[in-house]
Amino acid sequence: MAQASERRRNLQLQRIEHALKRLERGEFGACIECGEWIAKGRLELDPTALKCIECAE
Ligand SMILES: [Zn+2]
Repeated sequence: MAQASERRRNLQLQRIEHALKRLERGEFGACIECGEWIAKGRLELDPTALKCIECAE
């Protein structure tokens, strides 16, 4: 149990670091799949989202 939650925490940290790197490169908010901008509402819900709603489905 403790291991699983730690893994989840690490994964979340990685996602945040990744989002920060994308922010530095000016790529933040662009879908990694199709390159379209991810909807603002989706990013507000999950700032670490890498794909737009269509590609995430
Ligand atoms: Zn997309």
